[in-house]
Amino acid sequence: MGDYKFAKDKLAEALSGLTDYEVFAPAAVGDVLRFKVVEDPASVSLDYDNTTVPPKELMFPQTETLFKYRLGQTDIEPTVPDASAKRAVVGIRPCDALAYTIVDNLYGWDFPDPYYQQRREATTLVGLACSDPCANCFCPSVGGAPASEKGLDALIFDLGDAYYVKTLTDKGEEFAKAAGLEAAGDAEAKAAAKQGEEALGKVQRSIDTAGIPEHLPELYDDKFWEQFSDRCLSCGICTFLCPTCHCFDIQDESEGFDSRRARMWDTCMFAEYTRHTSGHNPRPTRKERTRNRISHKYSYFPEKFDVIACVGCGRCINNCPVNIDIVDILEKSKQAGAKEAKTA
Ligand code: SF4
Ligand code: SF4
Repeated sequence: MGDYKFAKDKLAEALSGLTDYEVFAPAAVGDVLRFKVVEDPASVSLDYDNTTVPPKELMFPQTETLFKYRLGQTDIEPTVPDASAKRAVVGIRPCDALAYTIVDNLYGWDFPDPYYQQRREATTLVGLACSDPCANCFCPSVGGAPASEKGLDALIFDLGDAYYVKTLTDKGEEFAKAAGLEAAGDAEAKAAAKQGEEALGKVQRSIDTAGIPEHLPELYDDKFWEQFSDRCLSCGICTFLCPTCHCFDIQDESEGFDSRRARMWDTCMFAEYTRHTSGHNPRPTRKERTRNRISHKYSYFPEKFDVIACVGCGRCINNCPVNIDIVDILEKSKQAGAKEAKTA
């Protein structure tokens, strides 16, 4: 596809050209950085590490109405989003774009989910390559990279005074034209490739995932899990801030006769998540819930969809209030698995 560039002080101008799109970019909301609709292009800055809240909420909102109805009547009013209403997400990090490609498996599996899929189809993903990965990033261990193109329509590189934009799909080309970007040359493309290589060398953490999906089930009843779960607070932060976590609950709500069925984020780290109406809970303690979180990402999901459901963004490590560290758990699970194999 194409190579483009624009001067850094022309960012607002480029965003202003996207009149056919609803544009999302990182914005500070209190102490939290998350993607918001751009109201004022001049307020947008692409000078950030990564958003606190991943952009999964743009495809799978924290709370969303599935349909409306009136009590006592049989008609329903579906609220499926309009796939022709174009959206552009500008500045998404490569790990978060990769996360969409993983979650796509679930929402297109036994029942294609029109709410998620319509938004995906309507959205152009314009990435921002990482030049300085965070201390807990481990994206190369799980199929990513600081300048990974997977799942993106275009990728922006910050080259100092200017941005270089590499378009990767027709949607990306359309974005570049609408934003009025100028053509870039070989020099910018080479500088971007060099930056990507250097950033890869700066990733500090890693985990060799070979064998993990197979050996985690062997640790199902192992005491191994308690060394981490004992200090877990069941706060759910690790899952709510994870770009690949996708658990939800469905509830009906009424105000008078006006009613709606809504879907909202839930987390397998809450005791209520698996509590049955009978009162029985198959995951009664934090041990079972921690085991499920890790096993779902690194064993059950790969078994079903042939891909690990983690992109190594490091958010669960950075934000866990008691420093539970997924890389550490995985590393220790390998040692525990090796011990089990020896005693078997
Ligand atoms: S963020 Fe930490 S304390 Fe909170 S549920 Fe996750 S592992 Fe437990
Ligand atoms: S499990 Fe942790 S490191 Fe992996 S994608 Fe989720 S938040 Fe990021």
